[in-house]
Amino acid sequence: MSDFAPRTDEMRYILTQVLQAPAQLQALPAFAEVDAELMQQVLEEAGKFVASEIAPLNRVGDEVGARFEGGRVTMPPGFKAAYQAFWQAGWPALACASEDGGQGLPTVLEAMLYEMLSAANHGWTMAPGLLHGAYECLKHHGSDALKARYLEKIASGEWLATMCLTEPQAGSDLGLVATRAVAQADGSHTLSGGKIFISGGEHDLTDNIVHLVLARLPNAPPGPKGLSLFLAPKLLPDGSRNGVFCERIEEKMGLHGSPTCVLRFEDATGWLVGEPHRGLNAMFVMMNAARLHVALQGIGLLEAAWQKASAYAQERRQMRAPGATQTSLIEDHPAIQRILSTQRAWIDGGRLLAYRTAIELDIARHHADPARRAAAQRWCSLVTPVLKAAWTNQGFVGSSACLQVFGGHGYVREWGIEQIVRDARITMIYEGTNEIQAIDLLLRKVLSDGGAALGALLDELAADAACTHEVRQRFARLRQCVADLGQAATEQPALPYWVADDFLPALALALLGWAGARIEAGADGHWQAPARALRTWVLPEFDLRLQIIERQLAPAETATL
Ligand SMILES: Cc1cc2nc3c(=O)[nH]c(=O)nc-3n(C[C@H](O)[C@H](O)[C@H](O)COP(=O)(O)OP(=O)(O)OC[C@H]3O[C@@H](n4cnc5c(N)ncnc54)[C@H](O)[C@@H]3O)c2cc1C
Repeated sequence: MSDFAPRTDEMRYILTQVLQAPAQLQALPAFAEVDAELMQQVLEEAGKFVASEIAPLNRVGDEVGARFEGGRVTMPPGFKAAYQAFWQAGWPALACASEDGGQGLPTVLEAMLYEMLSAANHGWTMAPGLLHGAYECLKHHGSDALKARYLEKIASGEWLATMCLTEPQAGSDLGLVATRAVAQADGSHTLSGGKIFISGGEHDLTDNIVHLVLARLPNAPPGPKGLSLFLAPKLLPDGSRNGVFCERIEEKMGLHGSPTCVLRFEDATGWLVGEPHRGLNAMFVMMNAARLHVALQGIGLLEAAWQKASAYAQERRQMRAPGATQTSLIEDHPAIQRILSTQRAWIDGGRLLAYRTAIELDIARHHADPARRAAAQRWCSLVTPVLKAAWTNQGFVGSSACLQVFGGHGYVREWGIEQIVRDARITMIYEGTNEIQAIDLLLRKVLSDGGAALGALLDELAADAACTHEVRQRFARLRQCVADLGQAATEQPALPYWVADDFLPALALALLGWAGARIEAGADGHWQAPARALRTWVLPEFDLRLQIIERQLAPAETATL
């Protein structure tokens, strides 16, 4: 089994040729110096680092895993040295502002780095995965005193960060969070309660760990609006141990290199981040950054699975392909070509959409024109849940299809593909389950304004010269679907909840159709097989999803459910 090696030339093609990222980013004063050459250099270096330092640890991470003993967590062999090399080379600070010790580079480069890292070693990548979100959260909501103490350490990655939301009774429903926070005379708070499933809640990679914790003040109203956000470090500023204890780590299906911790907060000292009772607001900065990262995990893992399957298909011979006179390579069988080309279409289309989302994040922050900033914000708000749900779903389903290419050899450990399938499964669950993403999209982002924001986004895309008639037709059908749903929902308020899991994939397929048209238009005949797969085996599902929704628009249909 060979380790994953990023194909940075293919990633760069989407970034520079299809998306014209250098021109877009250089128009922002913050990135005036970032030209195509600099972007290429960063990607090449990132690719080399990932291939030489991180990918070789994937197997040991899975087989040895993180281990728990006496409240301490030992990471798999090699993980600590690789992390030290990672932060000392400045990778966590890539997209942090230079005044915070960062390199001030565009978010899209950081996104591409994390795609490669996740593809190479999902378990290891969980450790630094929340750093940038924690940095943004603290930068925008932290007090000056907190920033002075923690911002640079987080920006540089010298200390790792966690996101402590989930409790046994509070999963998707964070309104049920019960961890208590009590104000102290010196302005700090004491935190008491239990958190579960906390990624990287304890480890030996860094001296200190900075926990961002959702908790409830005594006078808080019930529900999500009563939550406040606190920063509670493992080690207090005087070097003493804070009251945060790891009780155990979970045994799980995959992601063995990442400790999933049960944490107990026992009068732990914490400091408020942002305003009281506005914790979810502050946390959303972190969660949105994390959702794009999770989408990139789906894309990266699918790429890793595709690379393995494609290499195997070029070696394995079985039976004769149609028209062949002797035993064929399995890559010559239409059934195998279909699997590989379909996944290629999802990977390349996903890259285009995810990289564009990362570029729009920077435009939303730095563009001089408020209207352009608002359009960028709209893109991120609508496309992020689609990417998170549809591309993590495909990360799992598609890597399972790639396992199929190996036949029985895929089911045994030797080729490493079964690990990808196991590791990919969690991406559909954490950072807001895919069902929650679908509801967020349809209820909060599409129907809440009568489809206006989605309509504006589709108008913008339809104006793209690369759009084909079919792409525009899909957009038109989506608009009609939103109008019909809005109407029907006045009489059947539960209807949008029934159809959300069809609406999100339908929008994902409409966007993927646009992305495919965009790639094909510039590819000069080099993208024929994925383009055909997209048209023939992927996009027809759009019609099916809309039919499923349309059937439920008739009241009699939902009444019988
Ligand atoms: C490996 C791993 C790492 C994790 N890392 C972290 C971390 O670092 N920090 C952290 O805070 N948490 C973390 N989590 C927790 C994760 O975010 C939660 O598991 C997730 O939010 C779902 O919560 P739950 O497991 O309680 O499921 P539940 O919320 O109980 O959901 C169960 C099922 O019901 C569905 N459901 C629930 N509510 C609705 C609804 N309103 N409409 C439709 N369907 C609904 C869900 O989609 C799901 O299918 C991690 C979990 C795992 C397994």
